[in-house]
Amino acid sequence: MDKDVEAFIARAKAEGAGFVQPRFVGLPTFMRTPHVADWSGVEIGLIGVPFDLGVTNRPGAPHGPREIRNQSSLIGFRNHQSRIMPFDLCRVADLGDVALENQFSLDPAIAEIEGFYRRIVAAGVAPLSAGGDHSITYPIMKAIGAARPVGMVHIDAHCDTGPGRGGAKFHHGGPFLHAVEAGVLDPERTVQIGIRGFAEHLWDFSYESGMRVIHMEEFHEMGLKAVIAEARRVVGEGPVYVSFDVDGLDPVYAPGTGTPEIGGLSTFEAQQIIRGLQGLDIVGGDVVEVSPPFDHTGMTALVGANFMWEILCILADAVARRRASR
Ligand code: MN
Ligand code: MN
Repeated sequence: MDKDVEAFIARAKAEGAGFVQPRFVGLPTFMRTPHVADWSGVEIGLIGVPFDLGVTNRPGAPHGPREIRNQSSLIGFRNHQSRIMPFDLCRVADLGDVALENQFSLDPAIAEIEGFYRRIVAAGVAPLSAGGDHSITYPIMKAIGAARPVGMVHIDAHCDTGPGRGGAKFHHGGPFLHAVEAGVLDPERTVQIGIRGFAEHLWDFSYESGMRVIHMEEFHEMGLKAVIAEARRVVGEGPVYVSFDVDGLDPVYAPGTGTPEIGGLSTFEAQQIIRGLQGLDIVGGDVVEVSPPFDHTGMTALVGANFMWEILCILADAVARRRASR
């Protein structure tokens, strides 16, 4: 057995951590991490945002965090490719869900989510969130990019830079327009990968603001290695947020989502992209748009859990490097 994993399991056993119970035992937390109410000492917080007031098509994303927690019990201790052991590198905990007072109105809920993440950032915690629809990323970014605008690697079928619609400013098709306008996202350090589908006419803002948009056709023309190199070039050395909409994947891999688009990324291609970001200054991330009512096999929640894990690995690597350089 891998000596480091063996030592990790022995320590977890001594501490009575949930990691070492059979995977189907106990209350589900993200990746069997401890659920804590006290954030002090936590370096990476796994957080659910059960929210879908911003969807434009099929609902169900508020049920995402619970199902992702359930499916995440299968996650292990070491990334077999990068060899990163996030729970060994950093103190990682499940901080529960953002408990919203405003369950029925979108704009105050967006403000509440921002307030929650401002407290997370003030506590020195790097957040990794499970949505929820994609409108949650705007208030998260308002908190995480308040001191300095972040760059972004964005996996999605959609650019999500659309204008307001139906009398609403905020919705899941526009968080990155608002993030740029709020000065918390640097569009010239933003790369959007996997783009395709029915809503191309809504995304002028991506091009006007200078984002790098990689459509699926270009993805296949360039090849995986060149796409990863291009993503790294675009975001450069500053802080980077990773936002992963499961509809960036082809619906054969992630059918349980609100606005599925055929012709997307495979799970393997997306894993390679995320692993290819190791070494960047990752400051947080999210996996959004898992909709369990449309996820008849649980596959989309399993995929969502695994992409939280992939982002966790590169985030833990970055957190440990920042700690060592302080
Ligand atoms: Mn999206
Ligand atoms: Mn999308």
